Amino acid sequence: MDILGLTFRQVVEAIGPRPHQVRALRAAYRELVNGRPLASHDADPGLQTPKTDRLEAGPTRGWPLRADILPVVRTHQDGELTKFVQRTHDGLETESVVVPMERYGRSWKTLCVSSQVGCARGCTFCETAQLGLLRNLTPGEIDGQVTAARRAFGRDVRNIVFMGMGEPFDNFDNVMQAIDVLTDRSGLSFSAASIAVSTVGRIQGIRRLAALGRRRLNVAVSLNAPNDEIRSRIMPISRTDPMPALRDALLDYPLRKCQFFMIEYVLIPGVNDAREHAVELAEFLRPVKCVVNVIPYNPRRDSPWPAPSEKSVVNFMTWLQDAGQMCKRRLTKGRDHMAACGQLGNRAIARIDRARDGSGEPMGVPSLAQP
Ligand code: SF4
Repeated sequence: MDILGLTFRQVVEAIGPRPHQVRALRAAYRELVNGRPLASHDADPGLQTPKTDRLEAGPTRGWPLRADILPVVRTHQDGELTKFVQRTHDGLETESVVVPMERYGRSWKTLCVSSQVGCARGCTFCETAQLGLLRNLTPGEIDGQVTAARRAFGRDVRNIVFMGMGEPFDNFDNVMQAIDVLTDRSGLSFSAASIAVSTVGRIQGIRRLAALGRRRLNVAVSLNAPNDEIRSRIMPISRTDPMPALRDALLDYPLRKCQFFMIEYVLIPGVNDAREHAVELAEFLRPVKCVVNVIPYNPRRDSPWPAPSEKSVVNFMTWLQDAGQMCKRRLTKGRDHMAACGQLGNRAIARIDRARDGSGEPMGVPSLAQP
């Protein structure tokens, strides 16, 4: 049983241990989801065989447990930032990025995870969009990125952001199950407040998350334009989920008192970086409790736009602040190795996948129908 996508309660339900075994089972579960080899003391206390036999005979005292951590096939180091690639069992790849953080003398690592291989959303500035959607990742494949990162980079991988490949709300159920596993006190024990889900602006997904009542989770929205006219040129989602309706969904969302939305704004030269864009954006966001995260555009392969100049980034932030909108800037890291924001995705994988199924086409947008 691959436990990476299961909470401890689900493992217990599946295995049905005797009451006196639950504590040992919990210890084994915690070790495995954290990517650590089982300690010998975790071997079945009820099994009277030598240690080596126990471990060879079956992992974890006859319990069919294993953590199926996908192999890391490539890593790319760019300064302090590391991108790592895992190979799935069907020959595709997930990409994740470890970003060291530091504030107020404390340091930790943030892990940017993927929720899909590729993406169906077609944002024109994004490398991942060039793949199309190859498939959704399972909860185990999502959490396996965290387990692999903790094993390779240490337990100070403490924040998780769903900002890698894919639109998390297009894979809603698997992402929520993965978050249940991440926050399971018997396992990985992440605080929900240290997890952020970033959406392209799927209104139905935001409303569905609101209905689930997971109020400690952080929500980021990739907006990138001050109005639908500009947004629909770079983000096709704007045609089905227009900005006024998106704002209504944000206003209806049950934010906690000290919580705010992160509004991501990829600054693209000549597209959305003028003074009037900053003023219009601030006006649009005025009723929303939010901070704008200005992200200097990281050119994808064959990009029609360059990266913005330093001056245009500073100007845009000044205009936003003058218009009364709180904002901050995402530092540019990883651009050289296609590990920065919007640069994930290996096009060769997409070609292989399409040749394999003979379709020549990426998958369509999955439905977000309520169960
Ligand atoms: S920006 Fe996000 S939603 Fe848009 S294509 Fe890229 S991965 Fe998908």
